[in-house]
Amino acid sequence: MKFQLHYLLFLLLLPFGCKSPENLNLELLEREPPARNIILLIGDGMGIGQISAGMYSHKKPLNIEQFNIIGLQKTYAADDLITDSAAGATAFATGHKTNKSALGLDASGNVVSNIFEQAKEREYALGLLTTSSIVHATPAGFFAHVPLRSQYEDIAEQLTNKEIDFFMGGGMRYFNNRDTDGRDLISDMRKNGYNIYDAYETELYTITPDFSRGFGYFTAKEDPPKNKDGRKYLPPATRIGTRFLQKRSSRGFIFMVEGAQIDWAGHANDQEYMITEMLDFDEAVGEALAFAKRNKETLVIVTADHETGGYAIQPGSTRDSLIAGWTADNHTASLVPVFAYGPRAELFRGIYENTAIYDKMVQALGWGEETAAEEK
Ligand SMILES: [Zn+2]
Repeated sequence: MKFQLHYLLFLLLLPFGCKSPENLNLELLEREPPARNIILLIGDGMGIGQISAGMYSHKKPLNIEQFNIIGLQKTYAADDLITDSAAGATAFATGHKTNKSALGLDASGNVVSNIFEQAKEREYALGLLTTSSIVHATPAGFFAHVPLRSQYEDIAEQLTNKEIDFFMGGGMRYFNNRDTDGRDLISDMRKNGYNIYDAYETELYTITPDFSRGFGYFTAKEDPPKNKDGRKYLPPATRIGTRFLQKRSSRGFIFMVEGAQIDWAGHANDQEYMITEMLDFDEAVGEALAFAKRNKETLVIVTADHETGGYAIQPGSTRDSLIAGWTADNHTASLVPVFAYGPRAELFRGIYENTAIYDKMVQALGWGEETAAEEK
């Protein structure tokens, strides 16, 4: 009887001797100091096929090929195996699965706080940069709380009430040429401590940033153009934004950079459009990595909210001539890759939910460790 009891205890304790992912994470957190800054780059609609096409059609290695810590994440939404950018961004920003089209709400419609709001309380600087409109789902997931992603004018109003230190993207009309009211949110923001510029009045390169004020730059009244039609700002703005945010707060920063139109090219089943957007996004990744290598306290994460188009390179293709196969004109449920570099990047190995990106970012920043250390 006694022997049996010991045997039972042994069986019960067996799992604690193994190196579970949780145990490995704890070891990592003890071994490696937290990251001061995070640059999160989201290639909207960027699956393995899109990365492959960018890689094969480029004459030299992609910047993404520099990463050696790689994971995979499950993109599905609360209400649908096929997600959208709103539920995807909400998962990254809040750690909650939500329904398609919802921003900053959980699946029951309750407002949930996001990593930007939590970082602002800790006096971090915050940045958003996109090749879509700034009120579009992916950037909006980091500041807005609305049931419908199409509530662009409400989302614009919510942006003016948040303290995003640096933002750049299209969608100026939702701020100063509104259908629902005659307000001019741009003049409101100027009164609230922002310098606001737009591409029609001011070239980005001519601006000397004033770090004592917030920085907003509108790249278009509606959606910004395609890269192949002359849109070039994503890589230089990644550099400008990173420097701005570093000067803006000594505590650290979180900067979300989105290559939005990889997704739009997928919806259009347009391979040439997709590859040019993919390469433009990869240049922004290169800027982020260059900063992180110098700075040494910055975690760079590259991922996608979902794959778009069910894209694959077809038989008969060569490096110079890729034959596209598309299985959808919408998003798919394929796993998407996660690449990480910098302090605590190892947290991002493995296969996990999209909501784990939030948890891992919080762990990488060491939030909660200060209070845990005080209690010891
Ligand atoms: Zn899409």
